[in-house]
Amino acid sequence: MSKKIKIVVLGGGTAGWMSAAALAGVATDKVCEVVLIESEEIGTVGVGEATIPAIREFNDRLGIPEPEMMRKTHATFKLGIEFVDWGERGTSYIHPFGTYGKTIAGTDFHQHWLRLARAHQVPPLEAFSFAVNACRAGKFDFPAENKTAIDAAYSYAYHFDAGLYARYLRDFSERKGVKRLEGKVVQVQTSPDSGHVHSLLLESGEKVSGDYFIDCSGFRSLLLGETLGVAFESWKHWLACDSAVAVASERGAFFPPCTRATAKGAGWQWRIPLQHRTGNGYVYSSDIISNDEATVSLLSGLDEPAITEPRTLRFEAGKRACAWDKNCIAIGLSGGFLEPLESTSIYLIQIAIINFLKLMPGKVADPRVIREYNRLIDLEYERVRDFLILHYHLNRRDDSVLWRYCQRMAVPDSLREKIELFGRRGYIEQYRHGLFAPPSWLGVYMGQGLMPENVEPLVGVVTEERVRDELSSLKTAIDRKVAQMQDHEAFIAGYCPAGT
Ligand SMILES: Cc1cc2nc3c(=O)[nH]c(=O)nc-3n(C[C@H](O)[C@H](O)[C@H](O)COP(=O)(O)OP(=O)(O)OC[C@H]3O[C@@H](n4cnc5c(N)ncnc54)[C@H](O)[C@@H]3O)c2cc1C
Repeated sequence: MSKKIKIVVLGGGTAGWMSAAALAGVATDKVCEVVLIESEEIGTVGVGEATIPAIREFNDRLGIPEPEMMRKTHATFKLGIEFVDWGERGTSYIHPFGTYGKTIAGTDFHQHWLRLARAHQVPPLEAFSFAVNACRAGKFDFPAENKTAIDAAYSYAYHFDAGLYARYLRDFSERKGVKRLEGKVVQVQTSPDSGHVHSLLLESGEKVSGDYFIDCSGFRSLLLGETLGVAFESWKHWLACDSAVAVASERGAFFPPCTRATAKGAGWQWRIPLQHRTGNGYVYSSDIISNDEATVSLLSGLDEPAITEPRTLRFEAGKRACAWDKNCIAIGLSGGFLEPLESTSIYLIQIAIINFLKLMPGKVADPRVIREYNRLIDLEYERVRDFLILHYHLNRRDDSVLWRYCQRMAVPDSLREKIELFGRRGYIEQYRHGLFAPPSWLGVYMGQGLMPENVEPLVGVVTEERVRDELSSLKTAIDRKVAQMQDHEAFIAGYCPAGT
């Protein structure tokens, strides 16, 4: 009997090809053999174009060259997300991939800023974020290598064409020995004794057996959900949007290195600038508006003319009760989905496959391995969930049922406590695992309009005068550096132009 573990990946969307690429690229071919089954007839969900900086770690682990990947996926850079009309109408803030200011005398910058802002006129907090300033100016450059420099205080991610990224990873995986089978799975065969998935039967009659089955079959969750019966936990009462209509439009004249998320009556609209086109979509609650109304609203809110037909998608926020059951692991939409507001789904795919590799089981999985894997995935989902709910809950809009409901809804205790702690003295927990880091929470708390009642007493060891001086020199340094940066568009033209 072969000692190699045979892993069958069902699905060739972003989740399937990221999983296959990681298995093939990280585990050596002495450890496992990987087969991926996908059906062109069924197709993929076809959205998912914005990422967070963790994706770079994934690509780096695999040895994927950035400029090549960006050229082939028509990618642009992303330094954060601009939230328009979220806290209340007429406001805009950016959640940057980077910090605000620098610690002063060992205390977080925002504590000093809050102390001054409570009594005096000071520039807004975002004026001290390098990434926010670069976004607003439409500029890009790589963070400086000198970690103490002001232009090192940020990170970046990508916007890319999801179909092209999956295609890129497919080529990568096939070169590394992944076997791809085209065809529809029509039957899932399980072992009568253990209940484990034994093999998948394709429409062609071919039977594919394996030791482990990675379910990347999308929302249908063919293996974990439909076959093994692992229940879906709905979080719709916290994340009420359950539909999206997506459309591509022409490439925009303004080419900022950030995603834009504009709050609307029944949800929010995204705008994602790619090199060759712009991705747009309206994420909404179907309890509030119909698909047709959402489509009209999306099209009327475009910055550029549409170039494709609008496409509607249905989903429900939540996750499977466990991501790994028996010999089946659900990765991607088959395991859960928390709506695209902070572009976290691709991250959750990445973390799932990396955790699987960290815990790499033998031919038969030790129950402790399965428990630990499920614990880690649950933690990641819950942390992302809380962060997303925060955006909806902390709003002061009074113009629709959705926003009023979100203001009043009872949030998870884990989030309620975080909000209370920030509201007291601007305290933010630093996680050991999972998203998001304190600057992200800070950006959203402040952006949504939550001002702490007080500050840490530790700020008192520094005079207000010194803080004023620090703020002033910091702002001057940021403004000067940002002014020297290239336009995002020019940077891309020099570094990774599509089609070359
Ligand atoms: C509106 C919306 C916007 C989003 N935006 C973002 C974003 O900006 N950033 C982000 O990180 N994520 C985003 N996501 C999530 C992201 O799109 C998904 O996480 C990602 O595309 C992975 O999808 P998937 O591979 O799990 O599923 P899919 O793309 O649906 O792929 C499923 C695969 O399974 C195959 N399959 C299914 N059944 C069978 C069968 N019986 N036989 C053979 N093959 C089968 C299909 O052919 C397909 O290849 C968004 C999602 C939605 C709904």
